[in-house]
Amino acid sequence: MNKTAEYLERFLNGVKKRNPGETEFQQAVSEVASTIFPYIADKPIYHKMQIMERMAEPDRVIMFRVPWTDDKGNIRNQRGYRVQFNNSIGPYKGGLRFHPSVNLSVLKFLGYEQTFKNSLTGLPMGGAKGGSDFNPKGKTDNEVMRFCQSFMVELHRHIGEDTDVPAGDIGVGAREIGYLFGMYKRIENRFVGVLTGKGIEFGGSKIRTEATGYGAVYFMENMLQRVGDSIDGKTVAISGSGNVATYAVEKVNHLGGKVVTLSDSSGFVHDPEGIDANKLEYVLDLKNVRRGRIKEYADEFNSATFHEGRPWIVPCALALPCATQNEINEEEAKTLLKNGCIGVSEGANMPTELAGIDAFQQAKILYAPSKAANAGGVAVSGLEMSQNSSRVSWKEDDLDNLLKETMLNIHDSCVEYGNEAGHINYLAGANIAGFVKVAEAMLSFGHT
Ligand code: NDP
Repeated sequence: MNKTAEYLERFLNGVKKRNPGETEFQQAVSEVASTIFPYIADKPIYHKMQIMERMAEPDRVIMFRVPWTDDKGNIRNQRGYRVQFNNSIGPYKGGLRFHPSVNLSVLKFLGYEQTFKNSLTGLPMGGAKGGSDFNPKGKTDNEVMRFCQSFMVELHRHIGEDTDVPAGDIGVGAREIGYLFGMYKRIENRFVGVLTGKGIEFGGSKIRTEATGYGAVYFMENMLQRVGDSIDGKTVAISGSGNVATYAVEKVNHLGGKVVTLSDSSGFVHDPEGIDANKLEYVLDLKNVRRGRIKEYADEFNSATFHEGRPWIVPCALALPCATQNEINEEEAKTLLKNGCIGVSEGANMPTELAGIDAFQQAKILYAPSKAANAGGVAVSGLEMSQNSSRVSWKEDDLDNLLKETMLNIHDSCVEYGNEAGHINYLAGANIAGFVKVAEAMLSFGHT
C-alpha cells in the first residue's frame, strides 16, 4: 500500500471510530477524502495542521426537544437539531429538513457536504444543516405552524444574520419558512435576513424557489456544451416531485429536452410523451396546494403509467436524481448506463451510492456530483442575504443571469481541478475546488 492509501485508510478508520453507526456521514467523508488525499499527498502542511481531520468534526452540534400539540389536543414530542459544521469562510448556512428519517448522521453528512458546496459558490458562506424528525405529511397547516413555532423557540438563540442563516430542504418549503420567520421576528423583535427562501413580500429573493432545479440543469448544459452537445432533443429521467425536481422539469423543457419521469416515496410515473408545461402546472398544484401523491398524475393523464420503485429503469440520455440520498444504487447506475445514459446531474444531496458513483466514473460519462450540481440554491440564498443586508430587491433577470454565471464558474472550477488528461473528473474537481478555499482559511487561523 502506498503512503497516500495508507493515510486515507487511517483517516477513514478514525472517522468510523469517532462516529459509530453514522453511515451517511461516513459515506460523505469517504467520498470527499478519496479525492482529497491524493491531492494533498505532496502538501505536508495540510497533514501537519490536521486539516482533513478538523474538517470532519462539526464546530458544534445543537440538539433540542420540540414539543407541540396536534389538532386533537395530544402533546407530541420531536427532536430538533442544528449542526454548525464550519464557519471558516462565512456565517453558517444550510437548510432545515423535516422528515422522519432525519437523525444526526444524515444532518452531519449534509452539513459536511454543505461546507464544500458553499465554498464552491464563491460566496462567503460556511456550512451547516438542521431539522427535525417531524413528518409534515398528513399534518394540517395549523399543526405544521405549531411545530415550526416550537422549533423556533429554541433555534432562535443559535442563529442570526451574521451567525447562522438556515433555509429550506426536504419538508421545509415556503409555508414552513413563513411560520419560522414569523416566530423569529416575534421573539427577537428584529426584521433581519436570518432565514432564506422567504416569501417575496417579506424579504425573499426572486429565483430562489427555482434556483436549485434550474442550477442543476444549467450545470448539465455546461457539461454537455463543453463536449459540443446540448440538452435539446434529449430524453431526461427525473426523480422526486418537490421543489428541486419540478423546477428542473421546467428548465429542461425551456432547453428543449423531454422529461419522462417524476417520483415520490410511493413510486414513479412514466410519461413517454413528456411532462410539458401544462402537466407541470398540474404537478405543482398537486404537490404544493393539494399535497397529494404522484400516482394521481397517472390517473389524470392517459399518456402516463404509475410504477412502484424508482425511475432509473426507464431509458434516458440524461438523469437528474432530485429526491433524496442514496436513491441510485450500483445496479441502478449500471441499468442507466446500459440504457444509454450519458449524463447525470445530482439535484438531490448524495443521491448516488459510492458503488454507483464508481460505475459512472468508470464509464466516464458526464457525472456532476451534488455539491457542484445543486449549489445554485444556496448561491441564490447568498444573494438573498446580500439583498436583505442592503435592504434592496434585485430583478429576476439579473438574478437568473447571476445564477447562470455561478453555475458556469463552478463548472469551470471543476474543469480546472478535475482535468485528467482531457477527461473531466467532476467529482474530484468539485471536492478539491471546494476544499482549497476552506483549508487555506483554516491554515490562516492557526490552531483554532
Ligand atoms: P421537497 O420536500 O420539496 O421534495 C422532496 C421530494 O423527494 C418529494 O417528491 C419526496 O416524496 C421525495 N422523497 C423524499 N424522501 C424520499 C425517500 N426517502 N424516498 C423517495 N422519495 C423521497 O424537497 P426538495 O426538492 O427541496 O429537496 C430534494 C433534494 O434536493 C434533497 O436531497 C435536498 O437536500 C436537495 N437540495 C434541495 C435544495 C433546495 O433548495 N430545496 C438545495 C440543495 C439540495 P414524498 O413527498 O413522498 O416524501
